[in-house]
Amino acid sequence: MAEELNPFKIAQQQLDEAAKIMKLDKQALAILREPAEVLTVNLPVRMSNGTTKTFTGFRVHYNTARGPAKGGIRFHPQENLDTVRALSAWMTWKCSLANIPFGGGKGGIICDPKQLNDFELENLTRAYVRAIYKFMGPAIDIVAPDVYTTPQTMAWIIDEYSKIAGQNEFGAATGKPLEVWGSEGRSDATAAGGLYVLRESAKFKKMNLKTASIAIQGVGNVGGYAFELAKKIVGSKVVAVSDSEGAIYNKKGLDYNKVMDAKKKKGTVQSYGDAEKLTNDQLLELNVDVLIPAALENQITGQNADKIKAKIVLELANGPVTPEADKILAEKKILDMPDFLVNSGGVTVSYFEWLQNISGYYWEADEVYKRLDKIITRSFNDVIAKQQEYAKQGQTINIRMAAYIIAVDRVAKAMKLRGWY
Ligand code: NAD
Repeated sequence: MAEELNPFKIAQQQLDEAAKIMKLDKQALAILREPAEVLTVNLPVRMSNGTTKTFTGFRVHYNTARGPAKGGIRFHPQENLDTVRALSAWMTWKCSLANIPFGGGKGGIICDPKQLNDFELENLTRAYVRAIYKFMGPAIDIVAPDVYTTPQTMAWIIDEYSKIAGQNEFGAATGKPLEVWGSEGRSDATAAGGLYVLRESAKFKKMNLKTASIAIQGVGNVGGYAFELAKKIVGSKVVAVSDSEGAIYNKKGLDYNKVMDAKKKKGTVQSYGDAEKLTNDQLLELNVDVLIPAALENQITGQNADKIKAKIVLELANGPVTPEADKILAEKKILDMPDFLVNSGGVTVSYFEWLQNISGYYWEADEVYKRLDKIITRSFNDVIAKQQEYAKQGQTINIRMAAYIIAVDRVAKAMKLRGWY
């Protein structure tokens, strides 16, 4: 039978597996298998040539038992409701595992942002806010950047939202530029948090990161910062990176500034001269210590998992490893650190940003990183403790399941206390 690659079916499959292990109440499971609310919107947008083009957008509130929905917005030509539903479920588990007071949500617009100019992107973003206005806001659903959306997108969002609300509402979106009250440390928070998880994972595996090599798939927002910060936070060299055009590899290490300069000038890392050119598949299969998928979902599957040679897979992207691949990596004793722990740094600093916006008091960068490190390390320790708790009862569960059990249990308890079942 062909492997299931529908992200929402995968999210449900993972939840079902966790529910079985933790013996979750059936009524709670029935609520948690589906999103609470799904909105599809039609967006007429004025283009720069004077014509009007219509786009489709989505916003999903998966679960709000622990707080307002929270999640990013993607602009992508292949965006679809199943991806958004899956990502909104993973946001629910991510916020719960980090133990921050948010539920899960996600949004997206089917479009090719590379084919739109700034005028059209701004019009599209503002149309989206007008369409979902009643469905979002600082106490309802707080949006954030994700694939192909940026701090500038967030600035347009809070501006349109504030205009409709008749007052400034900086807390309606996070990941904003500092000038409109973004948070210090938000831009690189997802990558920094992931590298804190890598630091803790290496301690756990008794592995020396100072001599380790890293390959990063996708040097966009998140992967780009991981590339920049790897040496500083964990002391390892990055030997391979990629973007949608392909990969490059140099076993002596790649210089961040030089590679990113080449990408800026010619649009792809492959234009960098001092490295071997590889395909994205070859990057995944390199003989490195740490592999960081930081692009899109379904990259390590039943097809290629047995070719992975890294000792640690650090899932900085959402959903990069399929359930079939999960099992193969476990058999190969590769430590696969799950997405909703690894990339929770972004939403954690988004929480700090929202807190700063609603209180009007702003923190310095040091404070942000210190608090982020504390929360990530706590989540890591919680997950390892949960895995050991099951091991003591004679049951082996992987790190993803340990993380799921903690996250789902917190949401289920909140629903129960609120009388949802
Ligand atoms: P982005 O658009 O900035 O970057 C994505 C990168 O992946 C780009 O460089 C693109 O060229 C590359 N890419 C696309 N397809 C590829 C392929 N097949 N092979 C190799 N590279 C490919 O997006 P982002 O915000 O960095 O998000 C990346 C991942 O991280 C997504 O899964 C996203 O959901 C997740 N994430 C993002 C954040 C955040 O704060 N931005 C937080 C948590 C998780």
